[in-house]
Amino acid sequence: MGWDGTGGLERLVIGNWKMNLGLTASDQWCDEFLASPHLPVPGLQLGIAPPVTVLARLAERLKNWVAVGAQDCSGMAAAGAYTGEVSAELLADAGAVFALIGHSERRRGLAGESNGLVASKYAAAVRAGLLPVLCLGESLAERDSGETSAVLARQIRDSIALAPPNQPLVLAYEPVWAIGARRAATPEQIVAAHLAIREQLPGHPVRILYGGSVTANNAKSLVQIAGVDGLLVGGASLKASDFVMIAREVAGSVGRQPLRNC
Ligand code: PEP
Repeated sequence: MGWDGTGGLERLVIGNWKMNLGLTASDQWCDEFLASPHLPVPGLQLGIAPPVTVLARLAERLKNWVAVGAQDCSGMAAAGAYTGEVSAELLADAGAVFALIGHSERRRGLAGESNGLVASKYAAAVRAGLLPVLCLGESLAERDSGETSAVLARQIRDSIALAPPNQPLVLAYEPVWAIGARRAATPEQIVAAHLAIREQLPGHPVRILYGGSVTANNAKSLVQIAGVDGLLVGGASLKASDFVMIAREVAGSVGRQPLRNC
């Protein structure tokens, strides 16, 4: 599937199911997805990050179509006495090929993940051969006080501190205030944030996804924004038909603007 972080000229569309869809519901999702008359969607890499309980099953069922990844991974060792932790190696063994790292619901929610912890998770994903998809984004208060670029710079600097240099990066810019909000960021906000991110990584091969209230209705216009190399989709990925629709909208946009850096 070529899910190695460089991705050639292909855009990425990743669905994040969060804490939704158990065995029965995820099987129904797969049935609907695999029956879609619109597959394959050319020129695109598709990924789904399901709950860990169904990851292995999804990896088996979707193996020809969609890369399956984890929503998180442990920053500890590959194995050992770490009750409740799931190492990147165990996730890879279950069929994961990528891992979301530092999602804002983990950084800012109950898990309270620091940039330091995110960095250790990033390094653990690399160690296990998973592609880390590093999530970044500012809160509304940070945006309102003009700190967006500084926050993004800090998250990049601290979160990939332990990553090997010159490794192709996949980042997801997800303004916290746009997640699950039915209000995506504006094109101007997205262009500025993606530029600010790229400025922190001069000469570095990087693909940047946008995430935050992506739907089948706005996917096309979002992916046509300069510097947007794909989408991270939460709520709208829970319905297979919507996910396929989003993928088609993105695929239909390929070639209208050059990808940057890689
Ligand atoms: C997300 O959780 O990564 C996300 C972008 O959610 P939503 O699409 O529902 O805003």
